[in-house]
Amino acid sequence: MKNISIGLVVGTLCCLPGGWVKISAQTSDRLTPVPIQAVTIEDAFWSPKRTLWQEVTILDCFDKFDNDRGGAINNFDRVRDGKSGGHAGPPWYDGLIYEMIRGSADFLAAHPDAALEKRIDGYIARIAAAQAADTNGYLNTWTELEHPDQRWGLNGGNDGYQHEMYNVGALCEAALHYYQATGKTSLLKIAVKLANFTCDQIGPAPKYELVTNHPLAEEAFGNLYLFFQQHPELKRDLPVTVDERRYLALAQYWVEARGHQRKDQKSYGTYNQDDKPVFAQTEMEGHAVRAALLCAGVSELAGINGRSDYQATADRLWNNMCGEKMYLTGGIGVTADGEAFGNNYQLPNDGYLETCGSVAAGFFSRNLNLLNGDARYVDTLERELFNGALAVVSLAGNSYSYINPLQSANGNLRWSWNGCPCCPPMFLKLMGALPGYIYAQDQSSIYVNLFVGSTAKIQLTNQTVTLKQTTDYPWNGDVKIEVRPAQASEFDLHIRIPGWCQGAASPDDLYTASQRPLNGAAHLKVNGKPVDNFEIVRGYATLHRRWQSGDVVQLTLDMPVQLITANVKVDADKNRVALMRGPMVYCFEGADNGTAVQNLIIAPETKFTAEPKRSVLGGVTVLTGTATALFQDGSRPVTALPFVITAIPYYANANRGTSPMQVWMAESASVAKPQRQD
Ligand SMILES: [Zn+2]
Repeated sequence: MKNISIGLVVGTLCCLPGGWVKISAQTSDRLTPVPIQAVTIEDAFWSPKRTLWQEVTILDCFDKFDNDRGGAINNFDRVRDGKSGGHAGPPWYDGLIYEMIRGSADFLAAHPDAALEKRIDGYIARIAAAQAADTNGYLNTWTELEHPDQRWGLNGGNDGYQHEMYNVGALCEAALHYYQATGKTSLLKIAVKLANFTCDQIGPAPKYELVTNHPLAEEAFGNLYLFFQQHPELKRDLPVTVDERRYLALAQYWVEARGHQRKDQKSYGTYNQDDKPVFAQTEMEGHAVRAALLCAGVSELAGINGRSDYQATADRLWNNMCGEKMYLTGGIGVTADGEAFGNNYQLPNDGYLETCGSVAAGFFSRNLNLLNGDARYVDTLERELFNGALAVVSLAGNSYSYINPLQSANGNLRWSWNGCPCCPPMFLKLMGALPGYIYAQDQSSIYVNLFVGSTAKIQLTNQTVTLKQTTDYPWNGDVKIEVRPAQASEFDLHIRIPGWCQGAASPDDLYTASQRPLNGAAHLKVNGKPVDNFEIVRGYATLHRRWQSGDVVQLTLDMPVQLITANVKVDADKNRVALMRGPMVYCFEGADNGTAVQNLIIAPETKFTAEPKRSVLGGVTVLTGTATALFQDGSRPVTALPFVITAIPYYANANRGTSPMQVWMAESASVAKPQRQD
């Protein structure tokens, strides 16, 4: 049967048995997520990790929060009991507990766990009891215990330190995710009461003119607005009146009041993206996590309010972040001082790179994928998922890293716990959300964004379509997608073709693969027949056909080992090369290559071989090739004969004790650091 294309869809037809495939089509702009509950992950790479994080990491973090210096949860009990002083941890501890609940909720949504849910219910009861101590529902345990007369940082308090708006934002996010996972409104009742009180107190004069010191609440309040737009029936179950327009108004105030004079608050300056109005900001500056979370909020709000100033700002700042200020691993925030972005192309390999920055950049990128319907944002999300963010938790699941430099003479450090344990909850938020990131949709088409073995039930306007994806990605570029519509019908299936697999790079790109595959490195088949000459529009190859249950799409992404060079403007990477294979960035550790790695020299024409090793680091594909090494023999540098060297995925670094580690390797002796010969 042959069909005629209509409407906006453009492209050429390719005849296939059982229908036809349109090999190019215009994609629509705004995408909607496919909910976590609609997706089941069955994946050799991700499933064991997600089980470990649910069974070990979440419990480990809750235990440590419970026990840390008197206990983060105990802070709520002290407020409930009317005590004063004795707050455990920093003022943002409430927020970190809420983030733990949000991340855990997403894991619960994918994989119910009665014991974990019961534990969280217990925490929520204690949070509710603390809130009941204030008739207005105000809740911020640090302020209540330590400085009860300085709410919101007023009366001589320190609004930059107290994190009240950050905490309420994290509470709202946790409440929405916990409701979506369990159907319970217990945390939502607490969140809405505090959100309402926040709206009563903060905003344009005559309210207190305060903006968030640590962004996060912008996106959270936008999401709270959207949630009640979609669930008006829930308002009846809540103890307070809900007018969701107030949440949106306050979220927009927090964006738009930044960089302007405010009566109640001095400027936070560049550190907190408050030196100029958000819509006038041209570069990512200041504290990297805050900047990226602010942008996550701006991009989320652009999708709600449709305003071009929000959209243009989000696009501009993302381009700057990814085009000039992001490490190969997805790390952001180069300086320890202020945990801040540096100048464009200032990317020293011992840069700071807080884990939370990678996660926030992932959230920002994901929002822009939904907003613009463009797969290039998923390239960055994927960079974070496989590299910058994934590196935070040890392979055992119970130790963590805060900073993630690309080189370390003694190896990166993992800690059991930290005075500011913000990174594990942020990590769990991102990885908990993973099932919901694999696919996206609009009313009549489906987007395959990530290659993760999974089954998804996707509700289009007229019917449910089941997709079953099978793959050994990221170790192998073969992806099989079985398409099972409830009844045979036409729709578009958009499949992301990763940027690392597309044609020649522009000289303006931050990173270029020296063996970058040309167009044609991605191959598509439908029911065994090759789809020739498909176009890639906004990063997607589009298959339009009358789909029958049992149709099979096969995507093959060539995965050569790629030698990456950085833009010539990046001084730190001059005469240096890094290795990638597929989305995975590699590093060299002393554990595989002798005690030093800074003295290795990899010639530009070196060929590396990829080899799966089940016994190494929980099962990874290692890369082997040859290098020479520079030694200091007395006053004389000498170069050793070539020998075999081994690279491991960056995410698995720092799992074998302290061992030197490096991503950007010397390509010539001029930048190698000779090892002293004893
Ligand atoms: Zn952090």
